[in-house]
Amino acid sequence: RFEGIAMAPPDPILGVSEAFRADIDVKKLNLGVGAYRTEELQPYVLDVVKKAENLMLERGENKEYLAIEGLAAFNKVTAELLFGADNQVIEQQRVATVQGLSGTGSLRLAAALIERYFPGAQVLISSPTWGNHKNIFNDARVPWSEYRYYDPKTVGLDFEGMISDIKAAPEGSFVLLHGCAHNPTGIDPTPEQWEKIADVIQEKNHIPFFDVAYQGFASGSLDADASSVRLFAARGMELLVAQSYSKNLGLYAERIGAINVVCSSADAAARVKSQLKRIARPMYSNPPVHGARIVANVVGDPALFNEWKAEMEMMAGRIKNVRQKLFDSLSAKDKSGKDWSFILKQIGMFSFTGLNKAQSDNMTNKWHVYMTKDGRISLAGLSLAKCEYLADAIIDSYHN
Ligand code: PMP
Repeated sequence: RFEGIAMAPPDPILGVSEAFRADIDVKKLNLGVGAYRTEELQPYVLDVVKKAENLMLERGENKEYLAIEGLAAFNKVTAELLFGADNQVIEQQRVATVQGLSGTGSLRLAAALIERYFPGAQVLISSPTWGNHKNIFNDARVPWSEYRYYDPKTVGLDFEGMISDIKAAPEGSFVLLHGCAHNPTGIDPTPEQWEKIADVIQEKNHIPFFDVAYQGFASGSLDADASSVRLFAARGMELLVAQSYSKNLGLYAERIGAINVVCSSADAAARVKSQLKRIARPMYSNPPVHGARIVANVVGDPALFNEWKAEMEMMAGRIKNVRQKLFDSLSAKDKSGKDWSFILKQIGMFSFTGLNKAQSDNMTNKWHVYMTKDGRISLAGLSLAKCEYLADAIIDSYHN
């Protein structure tokens, strides 16, 4: 009876890594998945993570089940890291925080909450967005539509389009926003634009839904990267915020993150939390403990916390260096007069090159550069030594 099942297509992001592994050319580069690599292009485990793990071993932590909502010490620090410990939403206990299976699992929990308690409500997502957002809402049976975000003419934000699409959506829609370092474009609204976005969302009684996958990784500062979320929270709005520690603590495979629901009262937050637990229980029962303990130890200890911030700055700094070198190489090599400065304006792990599907195929087939077909490259997978080669590949692909 399984005979009738058709082959699923490869995942547009993780499928790129599979193709990369199968390529035997020594020049190959994997710029598909957003995972930090060292200058030698090796995976990197943060020193602060190793220290936290050593502490955990010394203490002889057990492997008992966590509560459905996760590790209490983790839930406390993760909400404080996001909002700031002295934020009124924390002091008034208006945040329902539940540990999730990293960013993806936390988004999925929120999607299930929307499906159950806001039947028919739609989620507005940016065009373009991280590829998995659509899968998540499709599988949770939450209707979604797109708002304009990227303007290919300016290689910048289509702010007017974004505002008018959010305005045009039915009242009470959820508006998915990338807290910082928009994936895949690397283009974020300015603080003034965030205020205007909050204005229309409030006018239309929409509910903001933040996806925060890069806190500390965009600017190198945890507080600066949370400023969009805090701006909305300061207005007293209800909101949803999914968090991930995949990138900023390099805990990709530990699957550690959280969903935070800011409610208008402590009482509502307690009720929302109880419902999130009810959704989580039949899906995966309770979350894994290892990553939660690492985060709780790192954030909860002032010395480790400072070390983490230094390592995050180092990672963000390396990405900024390759971004600069790629821009320099492109500008020096390309004789067409094309303005490559958009690469420097983009922030975070990625650069949205503007290469179309055929050009991206050329990058892979001719140059062995693996990337997603939307023209996104992960600068975290690039080294200074490979920038010239990549610039040659991009120029060849653009102009052919
Ligand atoms: N949201 C966005 C925008 C992302 O880029 C990512 C990671 N690529 C995630 C969520 C979630 O990743 P994870 O499930 O590993 O936390």
